[in-house]
Amino acid sequence: EKAAGQEAPARTRKRQADTGVQPIVRYEHVSKSFGDLEVLHDINLDIAPGEKVAMIGPSGSGKTTLGRMLMTLEEPSGGMITVDGEPLWHMKSKGRLVKANEAHLHRMRGNIGMVFQHFNLFPHMSVLRNVTIGPRKVLGISAEEAHERAVTMLGKVGLGDKLDVYPSMLSGGQKQRVAIARALVMNPKIMVFDEVTSALDPELVGEVLEVIKEIAREGEMAMMLITHEMDFARDVADRVIFGAEGHIVEQGPPEQIFENPQSERLQSFLSRFR
Ligand code: ADP
Repeated sequence: EKAAGQEAPARTRKRQADTGVQPIVRYEHVSKSFGDLEVLHDINLDIAPGEKVAMIGPSGSGKTTLGRMLMTLEEPSGGMITVDGEPLWHMKSKGRLVKANEAHLHRMRGNIGMVFQHFNLFPHMSVLRNVTIGPRKVLGISAEEAHERAVTMLGKVGLGDKLDVYPSMLSGGQKQRVAIARALVMNPKIMVFDEVTSALDPELVGEVLEVIKEIAREGEMAMMLITHEMDFARDVADRVIFGAEGHIVEQGPPEQIFENPQSERLQSFLSRFR
């Protein structure tokens, strides 16, 4: 099934070639299998610097797997992912591209901010410490600077008054905002938000989406937003990508995707939200 919008990556690439802007993330012929089951098929996708891309689609279509490969948590079965021009899962050795080792992945991870459905905070550390530990241990910056940056970021997500509190004292929405601050403080080139509101009580979803929107508005950082929140995708994304059964079926600006869906599959998917 071929749908309008499918040519967009080629157009994007051409435009980028014209302007000389290198994508911050590029998936090239990426596939992924779990055992005998191929869940992503020949994915080609460029994300431009600063671009906000929302991934939507039915459950099981491969959105999370796509994000997890960028977060270095799942290895592609085929193809290549590059971040800021550098292969993520490959590295040069004696002039050849070989499988990346842990040191390469660790270094590349510094470019990629990750926020998950389950917040993965350190329960035995204060909110402040959860946010300073990355800059201290991974970026190796001074305690004072890490403190200053963390306080700024926690202020930005509305938790300036919770610095000394432990995660168990926070609501789910507050925990998720700490997780966002923790990713932001590393100053990544791309932020991946993987269904970050799916585990939250409905009344806490709004505060988290508001924080992400605010960051998106001010940020030069690119974002990949995997979401079931259609209004949010429409508000925040420059481009919406609809995937189904391991393929990109249709993509385009939010107005096009939501107001004028071309493929029958997207139309049927969206009808569930009306
Ligand atoms: P989505 O995020 O769109 O809901 P996923 O990326 O989570 O989709 O899943 C895509 C497919 O891959 C599903 O069929 C899922 O069952 C399968 N899958 C995901 N992770 C694993 C895994 N670790 N082992 C086996 N199958 C998996």
